Amino acid sequence: MKSAWSDKDASEYVARYAANGINRDIALRVYTTRLLGRDPLLVLHGGGNTSVKTSVNDLLGDAVKVLCVKGSGWDMAAIEPQGLPAVRLDPLLRLRVLDRLSDEDMVAFQRANLLDPSAPNPSVETLLHAFLPHAYIDHTHSTAVLSVTDQENDEPLLHEVYGGRVALVPYVKPGFDLSQAAARIYAWNPKVEGMILRQHGIFSFGATAQESYERMVGLVTLAEQRLASGRKPVFAAAALPATVASAAEVAPVVRGLLALRPWDVDGEPERITLAFRTSQAIRQYVDGAELSRYSQVGVVTPDHTIRTKNWPLILPMPEPGLAGFSVAAWSAVDEFRARYHAYFVRHNGKREAEKRELDPYPRVVLVPGLGLFGVGRSPAAAHIAADIAENTVRVITDSEAIGRYRPVSEADMFDMEYWSLEQAKLGKAKEPPLGGQVAVITGGGSGIGAATAHAFHAEGAAVVVLDRDGPSAAAVAKPFKERGLALACDVTEPDLVRAAFDRVCTVFGGVDIVVSNAGAAWQGKIGELSDRILRESFELNFFSHQTVAQNAVRVMLAQGTGGSLLFNVSKQALNPGPNFGPYGLPKAALLLLMKQYALEYGDHGIRSNAVNADRVRTNLMSPALMEERAAARGLTVEEYLRDGNLLKREVKADDVAQAFVSLAKARRTTGATITVDGGNIAASLR
Ligand code: ZN
Repeated sequence: MKSAWSDKDASEYVARYAANGINRDIALRVYTTRLLGRDPLLVLHGGGNTSVKTSVNDLLGDAVKVLCVKGSGWDMAAIEPQGLPAVRLDPLLRLRVLDRLSDEDMVAFQRANLLDPSAPNPSVETLLHAFLPHAYIDHTHSTAVLSVTDQENDEPLLHEVYGGRVALVPYVKPGFDLSQAAARIYAWNPKVEGMILRQHGIFSFGATAQESYERMVGLVTLAEQRLASGRKPVFAAAALPATVASAAEVAPVVRGLLALRPWDVDGEPERITLAFRTSQAIRQYVDGAELSRYSQVGVVTPDHTIRTKNWPLILPMPEPGLAGFSVAAWSAVDEFRARYHAYFVRHNGKREAEKRELDPYPRVVLVPGLGLFGVGRSPAAAHIAADIAENTVRVITDSEAIGRYRPVSEADMFDMEYWSLEQAKLGKAKEPPLGGQVAVITGGGSGIGAATAHAFHAEGAAVVVLDRDGPSAAAVAKPFKERGLALACDVTEPDLVRAAFDRVCTVFGGVDIVVSNAGAAWQGKIGELSDRILRESFELNFFSHQTVAQNAVRVMLAQGTGGSLLFNVSKQALNPGPNFGPYGLPKAALLLLMKQYALEYGDHGIRSNAVNADRVRTNLMSPALMEERAAARGLTVEEYLRDGNLLKREVKADDVAQAFVSLAKARRTTGATITVDGGNIAASLR
């Protein structure tokens, strides 16, 4: 790898932060921490940390020697000075005389010595940074270094690659014991530029930010050069059938199998989302004849365990049609759970106090012939698992190319997975009501559809905004970040609808809620209008809903976790208005379509309901027509919208959106229509 250090950028950081009262040492620490953090081959999702020893003034203006070390929950690529909490250094150094220190006492002591009591927890590797004498210390989980040290026989290899430039530290779980071991080993080798923590990662250090950073670059480059030479071919391919089902077909089956509870048990299934990845390197790895050996030994650095579990689930190659696959995948998941439970029992209470077993489901799924899926309770968590899995493919491939992959022991990985300080990194945020669910909203680019997309996002669902107008869909989905997807799609084209659902399945794994909302009002006097108008209206206001619902049901049946179909019908379906025949007729058929789905798919847990909305300003009636109608009654548009209903309140797009959300949550309701029109007796259901 190449150094990305630039004197110009470094001075810009110093100048920019000086304006906020941040000293030069910390500004440069921010700069090189970001340089390391933005390289996924060095640092992934919270792995790695950095520090600087400096002096800052306390509230009384007295200079205090501190260690500014990465705080828990901060991403190195986007670090700021407040992500490097300052801990008083002298008290930390006094801990060196202790023989042992519990994790709880260590965390409490570190917190008690923070200059800012509201700062995040300093890294679990804080004492290691404190006990080494250098001003700057950098720590990464470089993939190249891991490939060299995750070996059956790594010691001679590490000597060959590094000579005396680094000290080797045997694997010890992070915390007080590792800090003491590293400090002792450094004291015997005070000339080294860094340390390899075997089966874990690499530290570099220096007197300046540049020196420590460039030593990291240099030491990682040595590992890369070793991996580039003398490689043997890896992963002879298994004999696989010629044709394989697509990721879009496979994902819903996998997603259903991994839901923490099937729909027919009382309560909602606890659904997960998937993130699909494939590439030449991934395919070579998952198609390998020995996949069940090298993929099952354990994670490449113990800190990944909490995100991916110790080993991934391997599924059989999915044949077109998936009949055999579904059965085999079901028993593979069963075996995974049994194996996880046995692993828990094997290690629980052996080295430390007894723990409570975590859920026994995989976080990474390998599918020969296809690729891999990251699994998570949220799309963000699924992407983290997939990123780590891709990184794992790289480390293990390189490791096997120069030797034989071997990470830390299973007992060490268990200690890490069940370590309270690691579990704390995952946070304990309360699950939102629709967390883990995927909602597709057609016509989601504006009006009621856009309001509905926002409402489902607010409830925790991943939201797919489908709209004929792609840029509008993109604008609505943009703030949803990982929980949003925008697709341009004309719902009257069955092929495009199928392609859109396929895309949703590869991005999120499947679909749980569909709000079939796209529509438009055609007008004309029924005895005189042209056939073409009526047929066009039926295409959009009836047949497109049928196409969308058919695709939704196909995916929902593959998942086997139920689902919710929601249709936007209209007052016209119940209470026709003059000249709105071309609109009301397909909407009346749509009301029956909703009931037909409720009738035929209830026993699969698929609910079908509708919202009957009227006089919403963003609704289908054109502003001109609305003005005309208001004027006919001697009212302004505002007055017309309020006065047309019993409650004398204007109906907003969000009122309709909330009705869709309520129906999505009403687990005992199907075949129902909710009216949202402020009250109109003539259009009420009877
Ligand atoms: Zn580490």
